[in-house]
Amino acid sequence: MPADSTEVIVVGGGPTGLAVANALGLRGINVLLVERDPGVAELPRAVSIDDEAMRFMQAIDLLDEAERVTLPGTGTKYFGARGQLLAYARGSELRRYGHPVKNPIDHSEFQQMLLDGLSRFPTVEVRHRTSLTALSQSRDGVTAALDGPDGPREVHGRILVGADGGRGLVRRVIGEEPMRGDAFEQRWLVVDTVDDPHDERYAMHFGDPGRPRVIVVGRGGRCRYEFLIHDDEHPEGDEVLALARRLVAPYRDLDPASVVRCTIYNFYALVAERFRVGRVLIAGDAAHMMPPFAGQGLNSGLRDAANLAWKVGAVLRGQAGLTLLDSYGAERRPHAREMVDLSIRMGAVMMTRSRVRASARDVVFMMGRRVPLFNRFFREMRFKPAAAYRAGLFVGLDGGAPVGEMLLQPHVLHRDGRITRLDDLMGSGFVLLGVDVAPEVVADLTDPLWTRLGVARLAVVLGDRVPQDGVGCVCVADADGLLAEQLGSVRGEILVIRPDRFVAGRFRPDGERAWAALLDRMLGEPLVLGTPSLETA
Ligand SMILES: Cc1cc2nc3c(=O)[nH]c(=O)nc-3n(C[C@H](O)[C@H](O)[C@H](O)COP(=O)(O)OP(=O)(O)OC[C@H]3O[C@@H](n4cnc5c(N)ncnc54)[C@H](O)[C@@H]3O)c2cc1C
Repeated sequence: MPADSTEVIVVGGGPTGLAVANALGLRGINVLLVERDPGVAELPRAVSIDDEAMRFMQAIDLLDEAERVTLPGTGTKYFGARGQLLAYARGSELRRYGHPVKNPIDHSEFQQMLLDGLSRFPTVEVRHRTSLTALSQSRDGVTAALDGPDGPREVHGRILVGADGGRGLVRRVIGEEPMRGDAFEQRWLVVDTVDDPHDERYAMHFGDPGRPRVIVVGRGGRCRYEFLIHDDEHPEGDEVLALARRLVAPYRDLDPASVVRCTIYNFYALVAERFRVGRVLIAGDAAHMMPPFAGQGLNSGLRDAANLAWKVGAVLRGQAGLTLLDSYGAERRPHAREMVDLSIRMGAVMMTRSRVRASARDVVFMMGRRVPLFNRFFREMRFKPAAAYRAGLFVGLDGGAPVGEMLLQPHVLHRDGRITRLDDLMGSGFVLLGVDVAPEVVADLTDPLWTRLGVARLAVVLGDRVPQDGVGCVCVADADGLLAEQLGSVRGEILVIRPDRFVAGRFRPDGERAWAALLDRMLGEPLVLGTPSLETA
């Protein structure tokens, strides 16, 4: 490949762009990632990642590294106007996706971990201090004008991913300015500290209408404080730190050495209309921005990365046509919208400045705490939108669950007594998963589509039984009993699991051909690489 061309250009070396590049590198795709800054962001922003994000780290072979920079398995306590406990959200006792639901991180450490991960891939090149300055696309590719230490140059790619943040250029170039959504502008004072005395293993949201605030205790003495700024407060320069000192004073002394960052942030709530135009896709804050009250900004960017990377890989490796990329926005946009709405609702309820609304909220929560279902709803964070899509690359979505859902991840028992995580057997591609069917049934599925997709084959037995030996198909048992909940109704069927662990569909073994034909059609006519594309965008 000539020096000025690559397969995928990723613009932005924030967590989303770095995650996209890792997932593409894992698939052997040639990637050029350009980042305007000299390294990773030094200033902390996101403070925690969730179980889906941890599962994605597992998928890109960075789980150990991610675990080293997280504080696993914390929760959040919500307090009322008088400091009374309203709810304690900890997530389900069972780790539905194989990981704890809330895991505080240090943003810079997390980003550095993702950047270091790229050194595993000879096909991925990272250029710091390099900015995208212009962009154009044709039927066959994308041309990016870059400006870096060696001066301006052009690079041609087959696909470009704009992960260039909330003020990014890519979104504007594809006609997405302004992002549409509800205006949600609040100013918050954000203070990140070290050597902090807090030792709670949970975050704290204080719904005090006089001064709504959030405290997130992190790893190794780190702590994040966030305070709503009143409309009549306009601190500038040194006044910002002075205000921070005053507001943090009930918790600790704030000497300058213990302040990593102290700044005033505007929070936005926005979702782009289109996540893809032709061969250009946008992801992360470039596609959606949300207030941090649900802690889902970065997590949503990581979901984008997990969703788009395998699709881009499938298109570039001749497994699917460009139309597959339409499913990226069809799936991710409504889900991101739900996360934005949740963040707004949580802000409106917990961070209200109205004393009347705060009192009403507190009464409802105090009464609700006596109701087990209410308690469970908050304890298990069931208010968070499920990892499920209602449109996109799925066959038989109208047939209901589990199609469209993310497959749960239990520990699985092998015949020789070993216990592993389910995903460790799934690889990075599609999987044919037999549910309570003999392993040879899964091994005997012969539609040519399975070869084109390079599927892995697995059979899982439910109901506390020992797995059988299998040839051409790994057979395991659901050791946690977790899958019975999700797959109890599809015993005897084959599930097709997508590379991002979502259930693409289900069929009975005798319906294999017809089902495979439907999926084949949805994947689109594969591109013939090196010649003009067969499809228009
Ligand atoms: C106070 C606060 C608290 C938060 N807390 C949480 C939380 O607890 N959990 C959570 O999930 N999220 C949280 N978020 C949100 C989270 O920080 C963001 O959603 C996340 O950082 C977005 O990552 P990104 O990679 O999409 O964008 P960014 O991190 O903004 O990265 C974009 C990158 O693109 C680069 N770039 C821009 N333009 C160009 C160009 N033309 N050429 C080359 N490079 C370019 C930039 O330099 C930047 O490095 C929080 C945000 C804030 C502000």
